[in-house]
Amino acid sequence: MIVLRRALPEFRWEGVDLRAYKDEAQAPFRGVTRQVLASAPDLKGELRYFEVAPGGWTTLERHQHVHAVTILRGAGRALVGENVLDLAPLDLVTVPAWAWHQFRAGTDVALGFLCMVDAERDRPQLPSEQERAALESAPEIARFLSGT
Ligand code: MN
Repeated sequence: MIVLRRALPEFRWEGVDLRAYKDEAQAPFRGVTRQVLASAPDLKGELRYFEVAPGGWTTLERHQHVHAVTILRGAGRALVGENVLDLAPLDLVTVPAWAWHQFRAGTDVALGFLCMVDAERDRPQLPSEQERAALESAPEIARFLSGT
């Protein structure tokens, strides 16, 4: 079956619901929406579009499954493993298995990105207090996580 979802204004697509990023009780995040662009039983992956509002951030998490992320809109930064990366449209970044990761929009600009992921995947882990403290022992990562 062919699926054609025409682009709509403001990074929306025909027939695609704008959803909450996650169940809010499940994990901390701020100002993130999710659109599932492609997901089918005969497709081993899913393609999603996430948008992080200005000042917002995705959950700090890690998992076995990997991500391939392409920035479509705006600007922001990501923590991937021990690296803090500046991101601009059409940059591509992968997230390896078990790398801690978080995406943050700029303070006055949204960050929109495509994220490719396995259709069947393990559940993300959140950092323990100890793991978060270990990450924050690197000054650059501490600044990133505090949003400064
Ligand atoms: Mn993830």
